[in-house]
Amino acid sequence: MRNEMTVTVKDVLRNELAKGSPLITKYGLMSEIDAPEGTLLRLVDKDGEYLGTGYYGEQNKGAGWILTRNQDEAVGQAFIERKLELAFSRREKFFNNPETTAFRVFNGEGDGFGGLTIDYYAGFYLLSWYSEGVYSFREDVVAALENVVECIGIYEKKRFDTKGQYIEDDDFVSGERGEFPLIVQENGMNFAVYLNDGAMTGIFLDQRDVRQAIRTKYADGKTVLNTFSYTGAFSVAAALGGADKTTSVDLAKRSSAKTIEQFSINGIDFDEQDILVMDVFNYFKYAKRKNLNFDMVVLDPPSFARSKKHVFSAAKDYTNLMKETIDITAPEGLIVASTNSASFNMKKFTQMIDKAFKDKNQKYKVVETYSLPVDFHVDRRFPEGDYLKVLFLRLL
Ligand code: SAH
Repeated sequence: MRNEMTVTVKDVLRNELAKGSPLITKYGLMSEIDAPEGTLLRLVDKDGEYLGTGYYGEQNKGAGWILTRNQDEAVGQAFIERKLELAFSRREKFFNNPETTAFRVFNGEGDGFGGLTIDYYAGFYLLSWYSEGVYSFREDVVAALENVVECIGIYEKKRFDTKGQYIEDDDFVSGERGEFPLIVQENGMNFAVYLNDGAMTGIFLDQRDVRQAIRTKYADGKTVLNTFSYTGAFSVAAALGGADKTTSVDLAKRSSAKTIEQFSINGIDFDEQDILVMDVFNYFKYAKRKNLNFDMVVLDPPSFARSKKHVFSAAKDYTNLMKETIDITAPEGLIVASTNSASFNMKKFTQMIDKAFKDKNQKYKVVETYSLPVDFHVDRRFPEGDYLKVLFLRLL
């Protein structure tokens, strides 16, 4: 049996829970939890009134997640199966769409179980565990998944494993092992993914709608700079959308071979594209010296990154990054400004961007905004779960 303990919460957390938030905030607890992660927490208010049952799991977001508001509901395999069934029914359209074979099937708290996400990649399932606590449900989750759907194979990422031990194994869980790269489709584009090779798979599925917009509405005939390009997914979308030329810039040595691979499986001649392994901040300097400018610049930095010369944090440095970008964007050009940082909201993001344009004395308009796509299901009572913010900005 799983350990269980009763935990008293402060009024602040009681009120958050009453509004429907599933997050067990640390500041909302009367005292620190002194128990192993994975322990079930029976939350009560100061008067001892039952509020909900969750699990203890240390994540930067909090101390765990509420699973049920019914104290008689057990949270074992059958519970997880019910959550999975609901989640799968929400994604029926995706399963029936042969043009897109990679998408999210279970989005943590948005689908009723914070700390766990499940992505579908052409018959394979990838589990991502965000705390030691949620990982203690592994056996039940795997059994539930195998019961609810047909899986070729299951892989996993332990996103809480800061020591990076998982890199030593190949993240395989059960079923058949895949052959990698696995080629998946997204709106008819091909992407090479690796489920067995470190923390990231080669594609960020949450940017699907943004890639599609770039491809179908904005890229044709344009020169496109893709900064923090990773495997070049935005460059591929732009090239397929008729871009004159794409330039991809990423610091990671592996990014070059990975980008060549993504271009190649889409029938694009990578020799006609520029792929640069370098620090984006150095690239900005280089581009200014050479008087380069681009019709479209994609800006999708990590929330936090450390390179030899810079420590970058989206929350602090986005305004500066935007200013550098404005300098090398063509008149009437387009900037796609994106962030996946959960530490600030759309309003703050918009303000940071606005400040950059004001400082540069440059007029602009917001053409479109994007947040998480529908398969990244967000519970409307917990809008903080929607971390993705993307603005399409036109220089005027
Ligand atoms: N935009 C990408 C995902 C970016 S992931 C996509 O949609 O697929 C963040 C990337 O930023 C990583 O590949 C990392 O290597 C790169 N990166 C981090 N700091 C950098 C820097 N200073 N200059 C260039 N690339 C950087």
